[in-house]
Amino acid sequence: MLKFYNSLTRKKEEFAPLQDTVKMYSCGPTVYSYPHIGNMRAYLFMDNIRRTLKYNGYKIDGVMNITDVGHLTSDADEGEDKMLVASQKENKSPYEIAKYYTDIFMRDVKELNIDLPEHIVPATSVIEDIISFVQGLLDKGYAYITSKGVYFDISKFGGYGQLGNDINSKKAGARIEVDGEKRHPADFALWIKAPKEHIMQWASPWGMGYPGWHIECSTIGKKYLGEYIDIHTGGVDHKTIHHENEIAQSDCLEGHKVVRFWMHLEFLQIDGGKMSKSLHNVFTIEDLKNNGFTAEDFRFFYFNAHYSKQQNFTYDSLLSAHNSLKNFKNAVKEHKNGSFSLPKEREEGYRQEFLNAINDDLNMPIALAVCQKLLKEPKSKDVYNLIVKFNEILGLKLDEDDAIPEEIKSLAEKRWQAKQNKNYAEADRLRGELLSQGYTINDKKDGYDIVKN
Ligand code: AMP
Ligand code: ZN
Repeated sequence: MLKFYNSLTRKKEEFAPLQDTVKMYSCGPTVYSYPHIGNMRAYLFMDNIRRTLKYNGYKIDGVMNITDVGHLTSDADEGEDKMLVASQKENKSPYEIAKYYTDIFMRDVKELNIDLPEHIVPATSVIEDIISFVQGLLDKGYAYITSKGVYFDISKFGGYGQLGNDINSKKAGARIEVDGEKRHPADFALWIKAPKEHIMQWASPWGMGYPGWHIECSTIGKKYLGEYIDIHTGGVDHKTIHHENEIAQSDCLEGHKVVRFWMHLEFLQIDGGKMSKSLHNVFTIEDLKNNGFTAEDFRFFYFNAHYSKQQNFTYDSLLSAHNSLKNFKNAVKEHKNGSFSLPKEREEGYRQEFLNAINDDLNMPIALAVCQKLLKEPKSKDVYNLIVKFNEILGLKLDEDDAIPEEIKSLAEKRWQAKQNKNYAEADRLRGELLSQGYTINDKKDGYDIVKN
């Protein structure tokens, strides 16, 4: 039985789609700066869900938005337009900024072997649909117009706060000063009127302007998945404002509950604390690579913690993931031509344990432990085949050709000769060169091994 924790009911619940195909929506990236490894944890989480659904035999119709229209620096519609800031700083048009960072995002998620949604939709491609959505809310009396734009009237929606946003809390009250025209401090913008100089703006029945942030997700979900969505994913930071507002917009327009399962990922911490520019600890996949790691090491690192718990990143913990991954792959290879025949009932036991782990709200640490236990069996092609099956979830490159390239072999041979001739300086130089190309030489009594790092 497949179970997911649903933030809406605060319980682990049995999951089955409403229809044959699972309709799944994932909040995507904002593309005005480099995506960091915390963001990547969110997409590994999405990948984890998608692969688990497929493993259980489901087809998926998945969507992810790309926020390529500027939105304001805080969820509560205050602050600066981040796209505008990036655009001024880098002296590029917002479209150039969005394209540049979208390309980097796509490169990173591909390197992480993330199973991508069927539709990846930039917000700027659905402006007309957003306008119709907002008009729909106005027509039904859930929105009102001010001099600043169109606002959602949360007092009209009895279901506000389902994910835990307490709108009567002090924090919300403090925002009362922010905009006297708003009927309630937690009312949020659906459409924002743009001053002339604003760089991204579109014509609408309410004048030139641009959409609020939350509306793009509701609109893209409706356009691509319809009025019933099985699963919606995102990071915990989005839970109590962004997702609360999405629920308000979508449920009010459709007149019923749109999303059944809300799933949230806890944050990646760095060195036990928050990632922040001022602490210079906002790492990207590129940074990890520059430190000698691969995107796959980070993928393997993700499996070490449950998604609903914070995960702490340090380079030491990444190194241990890197080493475990190396051992894991080597162990898998050793089984490839093994002759032991794994008894059928034992094989079935592993299959069941693995399935139980992933189906228990994506318990990847346990799933990985099952793999490790399996790999300790005597060398067996059956073990190899089973790991290949489990790899539908893990998504590792197991059959990568790890043959040592000819030029590396020849450099190693030159080094060996230099050493034999007691030309130690040259031997050391060649060892360094090999190391910089990712290979270590381990000398033995009568020769050497070349090991890929
Ligand atoms: P953004 O581009 O800021 O909208 O973030 C994209 C996704 O990354 C969202 O689902 C966020 O919740 C998620 N996210 C941001 N920071 C972190 C973090 N440190 N750890 C995990 N997820 C994060
Ligand atoms: Zn969203």
